[in-house]
Amino acid sequence: METGLRNKTALVTAASKGIGKGCAAALIKEGCRVIISSSNAKNLEYALKEFSAIPGAQVHAVKCDLNLKSDIQNLYEQVKSLYGGIDILVNNCGGPHPGFFEELGEDKWDYAYDQVLMGPVRLIKLFLPSMKQKKWGRIINITSLSVFQPIDNLILSNTFRTGLTALAKTLSNRFAANNITVNNVAPGYVLTQRIKELAENKAKVTGETAEQIFEKMKSEIPMQRIGQPEDIANAVVFLASEGASYITGNTIHVDGGRVVSYF
Ligand code: NAD
Repeated sequence: METGLRNKTALVTAASKGIGKGCAAALIKEGCRVIISSSNAKNLEYALKEFSAIPGAQVHAVKCDLNLKSDIQNLYEQVKSLYGGIDILVNNCGGPHPGFFEELGEDKWDYAYDQVLMGPVRLIKLFLPSMKQKKWGRIINITSLSVFQPIDNLILSNTFRTGLTALAKTLSNRFAANNITVNNVAPGYVLTQRIKELAENKAKVTGETAEQIFEKMKSEIPMQRIGQPEDIANAVVFLASEGASYITGNTIHVDGGRVVSYF
């Protein structure tokens, strides 16, 4: 399928590892100019080096801690001076702190609010005018299967990602006439640092090994495998493409069939 993404400008946040990195790689391969950002300068440098080796890659890296308003503002200024604006915003972030309600203090709630919800709000506010001006835009939020069914020990994800989903649907209505689509991709289990940490965390509570937790995860997935960042990236490329221009306000779960519901 011709995606029509050549020379579009895309910003992918939290892109030095895992799902964000996979999305950035896929967009680079489609011919996009891609700005990657992350709070981890070292990993960002490694990712930039790796991406620069892709033939024809147009890639730029900006360090940005998404929990810091000033870093988001700085990211915006840099992107604006380099490219004027962006066409595609992929809102990815680090995973919210795991835990049950009783275990999480207000500091963790405040952090997750900025991380999961306000980061995207701030980025959309800053980058939307350039999309409106071009009368073309794609906003794609990476959320989680937690928006379809709560995950017991991930109450921060359950709470704030459903908020982000509501934000996306509301904005999709408001900006559809500007040819700007707003959608979410909700991963199931994807093999990254985050899922390894969650498995280790769970293993401490249940007394099992992380390997046993992984086996259990696999057994819950109809496709019997943990996903790869590329699985998520493929959905992101599709939603960014010209072919997806009539899809907005939607959430695609990419989970090997893991979600136990009709929608
Ligand atoms: P990961 O831990 O592998 O990568 C996270 C990335 O975020 C890294 O590049 C890290 O440097 C960056 N980061 C962390 N904190 C940051 C901050 N404050 N500012 C900027 N960058 C920051 O995680 P992942 O598995 O790729 O997950 C990405 C997102 O997808 C997370 O929000 C996660 O909760 C969600 N998710 C993941 C899975 C999964 O199975 N891996 C499932 C559902 C949802």
